[in-house]
Amino acid sequence: MAIDPIEMDSGISAPELENNNTVQITGEDKQRIYYPWRFSLIIKLQEKKILHQVLKRKITDLWKPSEAFPLIDLGEGYYTVKFNKEENMAIALQKGPWFIFGAFLSVQRWEPNFVPSRAIQTLTAIWVRLPELPIEFYDDKILAKVGNKIGRLLKVDTCTSAALRGRYARICVELPLNKQVKSFVWIGSHKQQILYECEKLLCLNCGYLGHSSSKCLKTNTQIKAHFIKQKEDLKQKTQKHNIQEELGKVIQKDLLKPTVEDTSSED
Ligand SMILES: [Zn+2]
Repeated sequence: MAIDPIEMDSGISAPELENNNTVQITGEDKQRIYYPWRFSLIIKLQEKKILHQVLKRKITDLWKPSEAFPLIDLGEGYYTVKFNKEENMAIALQKGPWFIFGAFLSVQRWEPNFVPSRAIQTLTAIWVRLPELPIEFYDDKILAKVGNKIGRLLKVDTCTSAALRGRYARICVELPLNKQVKSFVWIGSHKQQILYECEKLLCLNCGYLGHSSSKCLKTNTQIKAHFIKQKEDLKQKTQKHNIQEELGKVIQKDLLKPTVEDTSSED
């Protein structure tokens, strides 16, 4: 599933009274000025400051982009990575989480009107899983709706869109770091658990993304118990999934070579 284009209008317009001071940005202007940034990213290394050229070298090592790119310092620790190829943006968003010298690198899509000193939320892309999702919900539109309920949808893992494979769906979403994550959503009348694929990033103490439990300043035993249980569940389900994948391969192999093997070994 391709990544949706940037929303071209935030819906926010300057107050009526200030019209005398307002440079009107038309839809046509927006098309033109946003277009070069459509595959760009806004990144921030959390809780660590490093030199511009070090950061650039590190992200080049991590992402191995197929093009040269400028890394633009926005201030307040934020940088814009200007890619011209969608594939390079997709790798940075979807293959994370990323760490540089042990610090978490938040990665979000470029957005218009971004002012670092006024950024109230640092967003980052994260993968979530939906364990034991009832089979009828393995539908791109439903999964997209679920993704947008959890955060802002970036991608639905296409191999799980096929209802026959795997026991969970994976969705890549953008989420704020300074907010508690949702542990479940309702899909109609079905209560769906959400598992976060980011052990080093999701604090089991407070349920916030962006720091590990050992660096947590809060203590919430109820949440802690909840997320520890989820982590255990995830481990078990991952194991089950891997076993199923292996079984799938065996079955495929058998189909390819139906006459060679002795047929009594499995049922
Ligand atoms: Zn915490």
